Amino acid sequence: MTYTSTRGDTTPLTSAQTIVKGLSADGGLYVPSAIPVAEKLPGGACDYSEHALWLMSQFFTDYTEEELSGCINAAYSAENFDTPAIAPLVQTPDVAFLELFHGRTLAFKDMALSLLPHLMTTALKKTGNPRTQVILTATSGDTGVSALEGFKDVAGTKIIIFYPQDGVSVIQKQHMITQTGKNVCVVGVKGNFDDAQSEVKRIFMDEGLNARLNADGYEFSSANSINTGRLVPQIVYYFYAYSQMVKGGLAKGEAVNFIVPTGNFGNILAGYYAKKMGLPVDTLVCASNENRVLSDYFDTGVFDSDRPFYVTTSPSMDILVPSNFERLVYDVADKAALANLSKKQKFTMPAPADFVGYYATEKEMRAAIKKVFVTHGYLIDPHTAVAYVAHEKHSENSRRINGLRPIILSTASPYKFPKTVMTSIDEKYEKYDDFELLEQMAELTKRNIPTQFANLKKQEVLHNTTVEVGGMKDEIFNALHRFL
Ligand SMILES: *Cc1c(COP(=O)(O)O)cnc(C)c1O
Repeated sequence: MTYTSTRGDTTPLTSAQTIVKGLSADGGLYVPSAIPVAEKLPGGACDYSEHALWLMSQFFTDYTEEELSGCINAAYSAENFDTPAIAPLVQTPDVAFLELFHGRTLAFKDMALSLLPHLMTTALKKTGNPRTQVILTATSGDTGVSALEGFKDVAGTKIIIFYPQDGVSVIQKQHMITQTGKNVCVVGVKGNFDDAQSEVKRIFMDEGLNARLNADGYEFSSANSINTGRLVPQIVYYFYAYSQMVKGGLAKGEAVNFIVPTGNFGNILAGYYAKKMGLPVDTLVCASNENRVLSDYFDTGVFDSDRPFYVTTSPSMDILVPSNFERLVYDVADKAALANLSKKQKFTMPAPADFVGYYATEKEMRAAIKKVFVTHGYLIDPHTAVAYVAHEKHSENSRRINGLRPIILSTASPYKFPKTVMTSIDEKYEKYDDFELLEQMAELTKRNIPTQFANLKKQEVLHNTTVEVGGMKDEIFNALHRFL
């Protein structure tokens, strides 16, 4: 298996090379030369790590089985995940929820980001790259905390996270500024996420800066969701979910539907690859919040990012330029569409029949949180609730769904978004702060606060640097000097 760029550079690379590079120099994303077709699905008795090894050895063919097992065992360990199931499937009378939030930061980003650092350090060894990788990431929340947990104290890496000082939730900020690890640095930026993100992109392209860094034995790298080392590990849980359905009585070969809360199009693209590999999937339901660029596309065949941006309570889906969508357009092989996409222009491309799209308003999302809690006693987070609304709209709309078993990908724990979740259930929770609400939530569900969050409030603040956008570059050198 080799990988090439979506934008024309046809030099074939190994997966290890793409994992170190992240993005192609021509601005494109790396795609596998062919999607492997699975002859036989893993059996129901296989655990998560066995599914992971089975899947990844088909995509990362330049890694030995021993190397892959080493990475997988380090990632999906009892230390990193709070359940041996890793991604448990919770069945309610109408839908199943695949809980992807049992990692260290209680969001689905952990599924890939607990593995990526190991894939990357192994890749550096394999490619004979002696430089220390400086993982540089601007974050609006979930990616930052998850990348910090994944890369902390990983030999051969330093990680620097920039977050918008006033643009992340109270809980997310507390998580980041109390982050431990000898190789981590967390910096607040006086600006919004787009300001921080644009400056990080400029820093990546700054030749003078890169030369100075290389001379010191460092190079920049990214933990961004376009890295093949994040995409491929996400295919695993689609197969794992199916195995669990079969264990629960689904006839082998019978099709299911997946409903995926979507932002950057990484998660649902992994589902599309799983379907192409031969997993019995009827429809992939793309769920958007009010930033509905993707659900509109699947509805109309017109892709248009030029529209107003809304700040919603499902912030990880507040995206108008979904990076991974380029891989789907490449796969459909529509050259004109691909050219327009890279030029950020509106285009038309018949939507592949594998997908449908629906969106949820804030009001519908809140009603879904309440409904699922009242009818099933099960709490879902705002992102998962957007998917629940999409599921309901699809059920009403399509007779094809009859008999098909729907699986909603649950991408965050409700404990990450206490304010939205609790006030959706009852307005009386309006008067509490986020930390008080964690306790209220535990009381309401008669469960303990997840250990990942239990002591968050009391943890020592270790990172209190804030900079202007223009000061981000200098701060990188300050941080690297501190690490020395
Ligand atoms: C990142 C994220 C998403 C969106 O996933 P994409 O792969 O970007 O489409 C949805 N929900 C949560 C909680 C997330 O953190």
